[in-house]
Amino acid sequence: MRNVLGIDLGGTKIAAGIVNENGEILEHKIINTRAKDGKDAVLNNIVSLIEKLSNEKTVGVGITSPGFVNTDTGFISFAGNISGWSGINLKEEILKLKYIKNLVVENDANMALLAEVWEGSAKGFDSSVMLTLGTGLGGGLYIKNTGIILGSNFKAGELGHTILYPNGRECNCGQKGCAERYIAGTALATNYNEITGKDLCSKEVIELIDRDLNAAKALDKMISDLAIFITTISNFIDPELVVLGGGFTDSKDIWWEKLIDYYRKYSNSKDKPILKTAKFKNFAGLIGVAKAVFDKSLGGERNE
Ligand SMILES: [Zn+2]
Repeated sequence: MRNVLGIDLGGTKIAAGIVNENGEILEHKIINTRAKDGKDAVLNNIVSLIEKLSNEKTVGVGITSPGFVNTDTGFISFAGNISGWSGINLKEEILKLKYIKNLVVENDANMALLAEVWEGSAKGFDSSVMLTLGTGLGGGLYIKNTGIILGSNFKAGELGHTILYPNGRECNCGQKGCAERYIAGTALATNYNEITGKDLCSKEVIELIDRDLNAAKALDKMISDLAIFITTISNFIDPELVVLGGGFTDSKDIWWEKLIDYYRKYSNSKDKPILKTAKFKNFAGLIGVAKAVFDKSLGGERNE
């Protein structure tokens, strides 16, 4: 059976895996993005993963990127979490370093959603919205028969940059008060810093929940903001399903019930949409982009 190499580029980690036509990961590797080292370091990391994982049955490579991604050309007009990434043509940069047949570049959250629609939590639903809570907050919109909605400037579904608090915290997209500044990993760390003046990463804040009231407060505010955000999404597009994915959902056991309570408090439709967590967790992006390579470059037909 043919396979594709899917590479999911995040602000903190790069997850890469060989995916077969059934959506199964045969082999994978996760490395640090080293986003602060700049784009060349990140590009070299991606190429080294391609060299390590590709095999004779690999018929294409798909790479996700955060930000606004032109899926026709590979141009990234904006990506806030990796320095020097905005304004590059990812496809051209990779091809300069290594020749690759069937190279596809896509937005990370859109691909996380495609994976869930293909073989995950959103399979069988006619409409779904994905929120990826990682370092930042990504989003994706899917409607049956249309597929992933891209928009006229490849910005559709970039829900992290809808404004949650007018004139609020500055976002590196140029706006103020974007949802991403209040929801997901970096936002939790910011919440905690605003209360205590201490710089901890979101994982450290989560670890303190049971013994630090300020950590609990920081998380409570984030979960309340997430519920407000889902309320807006639900009124905006009325999806059957909202799927929450990304590394931050690893801690869902400590906040899921609270999220549902806040959602019921804020929303005019208490039990809809259905809320679920993603099936593929940290691997959604790489599975989704593998599916995109199969669909785009290989016609999607199966070949045992
Ligand atoms: Zn923004």
